[in-house]
Parts: sequence; C-alpha cells; structure tokens
Amino acid sequence: MPPSLQSPLFAFDNSYARDLPGFSTPWQAARVPRPALVLFNRALADTLGLDADALDTPEGADIFAGNRVPDGATPIAQAYAGHQFGGFSPQLGDGRALLLGELIDRQGQRRDLQLKGSGPTPYSRRGDGKAALGPVLREYLMGEAMHALGIPTTRALAAVTTGEQIRRDGPQPGAVLARIAASHIRVGTFQFFAARGDHDRVRQLADYVIARHDPDLLASEDRYLDLLRAVCERQARLVAAWMQVGFIHGVMNTDNMALSGETIDYGPCAFMDRYDPDTVFSSIDHHGRYAYANQPGIAGWNLARLAETLLPLIDADTERAIARATEVIHGFLATYEQHWLDGQRTRLGLTRAEPEDLALAQGFLAAMEGQSVDFTLAWRRLAAAAEGDAQPVRALFADPAAFDRWHAGWQARLALEPAAPTERAAAMRRVSPAFIARNHRVEAALAAAVDHGDLGPAKTLLAVLARPFDEQPEHADFALPPSPGGAPYQTFCGT
Ligand code: AMP
Ligand code: MG
Repeated sequence: MPPSLQSPLFAFDNSYARDLPGFSTPWQAARVPRPALVLFNRALADTLGLDADALDTPEGADIFAGNRVPDGATPIAQAYAGHQFGGFSPQLGDGRALLLGELIDRQGQRRDLQLKGSGPTPYSRRGDGKAALGPVLREYLMGEAMHALGIPTTRALAAVTTGEQIRRDGPQPGAVLARIAASHIRVGTFQFFAARGDHDRVRQLADYVIARHDPDLLASEDRYLDLLRAVCERQARLVAAWMQVGFIHGVMNTDNMALSGETIDYGPCAFMDRYDPDTVFSSIDHHGRYAYANQPGIAGWNLARLAETLLPLIDADTERAIARATEVIHGFLATYEQHWLDGQRTRLGLTRAEPEDLALAQGFLAAMEGQSVDFTLAWRRLAAAAEGDAQPVRALFADPAAFDRWHAGWQARLALEPAAPTERAAAMRRVSPAFIARNHRVEAALAAAVDHGDLGPAKTLLAVLARPFDEQPEHADFALPPSPGGAPYQTFCGT
C-alpha cells in the first residue's frame, strides 16, 4: 500500500491561508513533464517529523515539483512589496513560489513548506515563474552551509528537476526547490499593505507575527514597538553572524529580509575569500550597495522601512510614533556592534570583556586589509597561534610585519585570560570554521550537475559543509581558497 494511503504525508496546519484571507492568492503549480528528485534532505525531513522513506520517492518528486498537491495543502502565492536597490516596488509577491502549507516540527516550531520555481502566479509580472537547476542547487548548498555554521536560515528539503528546459541566457534545466522557513513574512509584506494605506491589514499582520514569532509580546502594552525591537534584535544577531563568517547576501532588498530573522532568498550570495570590506559578488550590484561592509547599515535601512509601516500602530500621535520608532532604529547599530564584538571576542579566544577588545578585533581586520589574506583561513589558523604556533596565520600576510604588530598586542591581552592555551584554541575552532562554501567549489558542483547531470560533487560538498568546524583531513582541499590568479568571482541573480 503506498504510504499516502496509510496516513497523510504531511500534517499541515495552514494558519496563513486560514487566518489572513486577502494576504495571498490561492493558486496551483504548473504541471511539469518529468519530475525527478536530485537531492532530498533526510535529516531535515526527520526534524520535521516527516516520513523520509515515503518522500524520497517518485511520489515525493511529484509533490515537490508541484504536480501533485498533498492532502491538507492549501497552495497560495503570498503578496508582498519591497525596496529593490533602494527603489520601491509596490507589487512584488510570490512570482515563482507557492506556500504549500505549514508543519509543526519535532520541537513544536511552525515551519512553512514552500515550492520555489513552481510556475507563474498572479505576481509573476514578466517572469516565467520558473527556476533553473543551478540557482536551486546554490540555494540548497548555501542554506545547508549556513545551518551547519549555526546561522539562522531557511533550508532546502528537496531539489527536483522538472524535465523542462527553461530560457535564461541559454537553455537551462528547470528545477524546483522545496524549502522550509520559520515563515516567509518579509519587511516587504508589511510594505505591501502600508503602501495601500490598509492599516487594518498591517495590524492583522503584526498580530500574526507576534503570535507566531514573539508570543511573549502578547502580554505587552506596547506590543508593536516591542515587535520592532524584537525584529531589530534578530537582524542584529543575524548580520553579525554573517559578518563573522564573511557571508555576503548580495541582494538585501526589503523583500528579502524575513521578520523571523532567518537568512532568506539566496540569490547572488557568496562567502568572501580574500578579506576586502568592499567585496561585491553580484553582477547586478553595480554600485556596491550590498557590499560586505555595507550589510549592517543596509539592515538598519531596511528596518527603518519596517518601522515606517508600523507607525500608526505604535502611537495614534504621529510625532510621538516617529520619535519612539526612531529611538529603536537608532539603537540597531549599537545592538549589532555588541553582537559583533561578542562574536569577535570568542573568535579571538577571549572569555572576559576588556575595554581594549574592540580595538583589538578591529585591528586584526585592519591588519588583513590590502594583504590578500584569506579571511576564513586567517581566523581558523589563529587558533594554532593561540597555542603558540603563529607561523601558519602569519604566512597568509603579504607583509607579515602588519600581523606581527597586531600579534604582540593580542598576546598581551591573552595574558589576562584564565583558560589554558589548548582549551582556548579548541574553543576558537568551535566558532571559526575550517570549511565554508567556497565559490569555486560551489561553482564546480553546480557545473557538474547542470552540464553533466552529476550530483556527486554537490553531495560531497554538502557532506563536508555539514561539519564545518571539524578538521576533515580527507577533505583538506575544500578548506583552501581558489588558486591565485583566477578571475574575480561574480554571481548572477539566480532567476
Ligand atoms: P528575487 O530576486 O528572487 O528575490 O525576486 C524578486 C521578485 O521577482 C519576487 O517578487 C519574485 O517572485 C520575482 N521573480 C523572480 N524571478 C522570477 C521569475 N522567474 N518569474 C516570476 N517572478 C520572478
Ligand atoms: Mg526574493
């Protein structure tokens, strides 16, 4: 008997479709010719309480490609707006995605199950509603890498090819990504209703977010300002975590910032190899708006756009609402810096807080600047330096004198620390990864899959990235930057 006849494959409970009518459009996926599962995330299926054996099948491929609506699903395309590269689009929305429904995971957390690339919707504008295999695999790999690094993120449950060729620069294999998110509510979701002057729906949405993500605030007298504060706190944490690992999102439009505080909508994202605060990978980010060093400021800018939508809820008196929201927004960068500094302390092997720590953390970055130092290797090798072997990290610097000056100050600061050197080094290796999703490795894995139908390299890379903090001597090459002299890396928008 097929598993679906024994019990439903998914125990859906679809609060967004049920409680927020008018926030989305019920819709169906386009039929595709030949769904085939190329990757299935068994570990994630398990945390969701799903039957992996039943879903890692042709029947699962049909569901994840959108050809079959599983029992209990209520597929909808969600409405949202957004500032894209600073310009406001009042109508974006799920132009190539459908929210199938919500699941309660084993921890009791509500999770969205969304298909991305499932065909045109009323929000598609001029797009085809589809996704190509390369960007689907990039999102799969990057999301899993981030998850293993302990960074909040949406995650891939499955990637399927559709048997269709879609048109991009040239023909590309079509694919659909089944992804899991704490929710898909974006800053742009609030903007959609605020831009229409529909303050009732902004309030309904805020109440929904509070119930779903911040139930502690249900008792608050000032719940909407507190909601803004909670979202700022999550973003401050998130962006600090990105900065620590050299992650560049690449397209931090307000429609790509989730209220949940998860990293969402992996497009032209990448991890930085050589440290350079101005690093930009996206081919469409001509002015470097979303460069590495700009990310905290852009997050603050996006949060100010969220604050604007909440003003009528924060206080009936507009002047007072603005004053109160502004205070929260102004606090964002300080909160971010605090999270960043806390993270840097751990990465520097410091357990106590001393006034000079900020300068010490900034000093390490300053020493790296202009030196072609690989960011990830520098932090990782610092652990060996904490145990007395500074040579490996020093060797990364074109001019070792810059490192030596900084190193002397760091050693003096470490003298104030109670932990033994080996213990300190072990703690540093738990936060500074050996393995990130290196661009050249990601590209090679995507090329093998797209050009040759070979998922082997993607699977190997996924396995390595699942244990980023462990030395994996058999995969030592995956820790290395690309060979010098390679062309500067660019990512494309992933549409
Ligand atoms: P993104 O750049 O993926 O964050 O998407 C920005 C907006 O464009 C969203 O409203 C998407 O739904 C829409 N979009 C992106 N690609 C497509 C596509 N191929 N077809 C239809 N809509 C799309
Ligand atoms: Mg998006």
